[in-house]
Amino acid sequence: MIPYARQEISEEDIEAVVQVLQSDFLTQGPITPKFEQAVALRCHAQYAITSNSATSALHLTYLAMDLGPGDWLWTSPITFVATSNAALHCGAQVDFVDIDSRTYNLCPKALEAKLIQAERLGTLPKIVVAVHFSGQPCDMKAIHALGQRFGFKIIEDASHAIGAQYFGEPIGNCRYSDATIFSFHPVKIITTGEGGMVLTNDAALAARIDLLRNHGVTRDPSLMTKTAEGAWYYQQLMLGFNYRMTDIQAALGLSQLQRLDAFLSRRHEIAEYYNDQLKNTPIVLPYQAPDVDSALHLYVIQTQEDNRAALFNALRAQEIFVNVHYIPVHLQPYYQKLGFKPGQFPVAEHYYAHAISLPMYTGLTKEQQDQVIHLINALSLKTPYGC
Ligand SMILES: *Cc1c(COP(=O)(O)O)cnc(C)c1O
Repeated sequence: MIPYARQEISEEDIEAVVQVLQSDFLTQGPITPKFEQAVALRCHAQYAITSNSATSALHLTYLAMDLGPGDWLWTSPITFVATSNAALHCGAQVDFVDIDSRTYNLCPKALEAKLIQAERLGTLPKIVVAVHFSGQPCDMKAIHALGQRFGFKIIEDASHAIGAQYFGEPIGNCRYSDATIFSFHPVKIITTGEGGMVLTNDAALAARIDLLRNHGVTRDPSLMTKTAEGAWYYQQLMLGFNYRMTDIQAALGLSQLQRLDAFLSRRHEIAEYYNDQLKNTPIVLPYQAPDVDSALHLYVIQTQEDNRAALFNALRAQEIFVNVHYIPVHLQPYYQKLGFKPGQFPVAEHYYAHAISLPMYTGLTKEQQDQVIHLINALSLKTPYGC
């Protein structure tokens, strides 16, 4: 069986987790802040706050930005449902912006057109979430310029994109955004089992996220409304959650982080081999935008008209567990009940109808990749694509 993605766990990873298990703290010990500092350093951000998932990291960041009833959050329909769900949990309204047909990322032109219309209607978004789909950074300069012009905050959902670069700088530095989110789910670039992180350069935002992830409770006397009543004293200042990461998870993350560069170069090797070996098929291969370096979480191909299901089923029949990322969020029954309609985001819908994510993970062997390539080549020769 060849999955579309899977984690790579080394002896060092196991040893790091065992060390925590034998230590005094399973959670809220010394390793979580170490992991935060290491990622902040690597990604050139001032603050990093771990959480128990990227979903909770998104929720915390939206809440810390005061997203609530009466507010709008916009994002790409080609994302995991968590990106928009977290906004609904805040009581905000969600809308989508169609994607670019080549990068599959939120299209800045579509964003501008929608913003001009929203300005007239008085429905400008408070937050726009740029999802770095497949690990390829969005056109952040264009989105940032629109943010300045229309006054919205920008969050990068970089769940796919730790290690990616934008104009030679690491994703996570928040040069063109207010915050960046990473996911450490096992299918992503590095893993903590479950886990997420928020990066930001905004001290006040970081402090609010830190409070909210821990019930809104603080033991820091400088934050309290009055002098502490004793060493036991704590105060609840906001209504928060238990969204903390454990030291067990952070130890795994910190150990995985040491191999981030090796993971990325292996992913690039796999992508280049696919690019080379599939170039004579009618399949559309991933587009590489200029000035960015993708983390290559996904390798997504686009089949010709009406061939997606045939190719998908043929690969699955050979135990090659290809996948589809994503069903456009606005087509989900839950979102249809909110009033979204098929046809609203035609580029995303066209993309979805033809997309297949091929196996892409560091442990994919050359033989396994050859097997995938061989099958796709054989099937696309038999099927007269695009005649
Ligand atoms: C995986 C993912 C999430 C959610 O991440 P979790 O860590 O599983 O909560 C959110 N957004 C995108 C784009 C993702 O790929």
